[in-house]
Amino acid sequence: MSSPYPKLLEPLDLGFTTLRNRVLMGSMHTGLEEAKGGFERQAAFFAERAKGGVGLIVTGGIAPNEAGRTGPFATMLDTEEKVADHKIITDAVHKEDGKILMQILHTGRYAYHDKGVAPSPLKAPIAPFPPHELTDDEVVQTIEDYANCAVLAQKGGYDGVEVMGSEGYLINEFIVTKTNKRTDRWGGSYENRMRFAIEIIKRTRELAGPNFIIMFRLSMIDLVDDGSSWDEVVQLAKEIEKAGANIINSGIGWHEARVPTIAQSVPRGAWTWTTARMKGEVNIPIIASNRINNPEDAEAVIAGGQADMVSLARPFLADAEFVNKAAEDRADEINTCIACNQACLDHIFNMQICSCLVNPKACFETELIYGATEAPKKVAVVGSGPAGLSCAVTAAERGHDVTLFESNHAIGGQLNYARQVPGKQEFDETIRYFSRQLELKGVKVQLGKRVSAEDLQSGGFDEIILATGIAPRKLDIEGSDHRKVLSYIEVLGEKKPVGKKVAIIGAGGIGFDVAEFLTHSGEDREQPLDEFLDQWGVDREPAKSGGLKAMTKPTPAREVYLLQRKKSKPGQGLGKTTGWIHRAALKMNDVAMMPGVVYRKIDDDGLHITAGDNDQVLDVDNVIICAGQEPQRELQEGLEAGGLKVTLIGGADVAAELDAKRAIKQGIEVAAEI
Ligand code: NAP
Ligand code: SF4
Repeated sequence: MSSPYPKLLEPLDLGFTTLRNRVLMGSMHTGLEEAKGGFERQAAFFAERAKGGVGLIVTGGIAPNEAGRTGPFATMLDTEEKVADHKIITDAVHKEDGKILMQILHTGRYAYHDKGVAPSPLKAPIAPFPPHELTDDEVVQTIEDYANCAVLAQKGGYDGVEVMGSEGYLINEFIVTKTNKRTDRWGGSYENRMRFAIEIIKRTRELAGPNFIIMFRLSMIDLVDDGSSWDEVVQLAKEIEKAGANIINSGIGWHEARVPTIAQSVPRGAWTWTTARMKGEVNIPIIASNRINNPEDAEAVIAGGQADMVSLARPFLADAEFVNKAAEDRADEINTCIACNQACLDHIFNMQICSCLVNPKACFETELIYGATEAPKKVAVVGSGPAGLSCAVTAAERGHDVTLFESNHAIGGQLNYARQVPGKQEFDETIRYFSRQLELKGVKVQLGKRVSAEDLQSGGFDEIILATGIAPRKLDIEGSDHRKVLSYIEVLGEKKPVGKKVAIIGAGGIGFDVAEFLTHSGEDREQPLDEFLDQWGVDREPAKSGGLKAMTKPTPAREVYLLQRKKSKPGQGLGKTTGWIHRAALKMNDVAMMPGVVYRKIDDDGLHITAGDNDQVLDVDNVIICAGQEPQRELQEGLEAGGLKVTLIGGADVAAELDAKRAIKQGIEVAAEI
């Protein structure tokens, strides 16, 4: 059988070693680096991905010295004693025929501790500590520390290192005038500012010898003012090649940039034009990264000559077998990363172990374990939202006889509303994934059937799982049954007509989603790339330093008020790494966000509120209720009255935290115990 993705799966010859395909599992900090038993857990995590066929893996960032650590307890590799721990990881990966690089990350002024250093003593806008300005001797010592770290990584069995030179970390800080105000041999002219990066690669090659992969992660576009120009990026790439690197990986945007680079609303493959522009400038392979999450797009990048390899990071949390499934023409079985950041980056920023919303087993390979059942049971799962789906699929995978009842004519529950929102179309993939898994695992799916307690009672089920979800919370203010009032389900699901001026009651995740939906014009859920770049002020013009220009304001389709009773900033409960994007997008669309509001009544004049000391009437055409949910459990009572035991999962269990991450995880955990 010919390969469905011939270019993607073609080996890459690096001279002294060959990668089995063009897919890189990009570096991600998982929190396992610092966790108890973390090396064993990382070994299991990476080995599973190696077994899944990936061509090359990069670990999370490891500091070369104390100053370079992300936080006070972050891992560093600076002495021989620490090498043995890393062997646990590399042995496990090599046993699966994989190859793995260790990323050397010096955070520079992004350090979350008071020992941070930088070329100049300028505090980063996203870190609380002003850095110490490195002296000439300290710069030289830091270069030695990088090379020493690489040699220790080599002793630890790694096939090479990735030197993190992008995202606004130390190396990047030396390169641009924004953060490098030095006047010595490490600052001033571009030759001087590049010197730190070049010397690191040279010294690393010198100490590690020729048969060791050195990958440099180079910032293709900084997305900050006074960042590098394109000519400078090319010049650096050439020097890095000359200094002895084998591969150039790409970084997009500094962490402090105010342009979304990996969030769900970023169009797929949004940044491959940067590596395409680099192709031909250097002779070593170039890797494209960010928002590539499926084999079709990845193949197109390689086949179209936009890069020699593709880097996927989060997609390997979502599915360890991404490459094998692609190679075996089973791409429809891939659990696709939906770029939500909810269980990966948001966890890291909340000091939790990283995982994945669509695959809670990620980084919990040694914890969330279940096998085939020895006592197959007849299981009913009622409701096919994320909780019901994950429970039904996992139970069936374990060998139970599972029937899934769904009153609607399609599976997906609340996912069907989320996917209507512009920028949230990736939820289509989650529904596709589960549809296929239901087929593969032999779940009997009964759509369009509102099952009754009697049906379940007479069905002879050993286990009944209620994943019946939620009902939107109704308001008890005067006029809440007025014709102007709609629920978010009527807007997103039933597509009821909505007027030009709207008030949204409730500024949680769904209030924000509905505001996005209502201000958006046009049919596209995925924003066209040019429009996205213009809206966020990204300049493709090579001469522009940092790649920024003025933002282009969108034309909102409606005038929207987004209201909440709390006095806090609306959207505070949104994801740590994505909330700012949602707030900025609504601001661009002139959404009036009003906290501290008291709702008085709704009538023909509109929504009557008190905001501060002022009574006002918002003369809106519609009022959309996004005020949270209540659990939907009407079957529970009848079943329990009949002596049957039921288990509640998802929104039917806890509506207050209605959230696909918790629902999917709980579905699996309950199925693992049956
Ligand atoms: P939510 O986050 O709990 O927000 C409900 C909103 O309704 C709050 O703003 C609350 O604010 C208001 N509210 C609650 N009771 C009310 C009442 N009786 N009268 C008037 N207002 C009331 O719920 P959600 O927006 O439905 O989201 C549900 C879950 O979906 C979230 O927990 C989240 O996990 C998930 N989700 C997340 C995202 C995202 O992060 N982008 C997007 C969609 C959904 P006040 O009490 O201050 O008025
Ligand atoms: Fe992707 Fe979301 Fe999973 Fe992170 S949590 S890997 S963004 S699907």
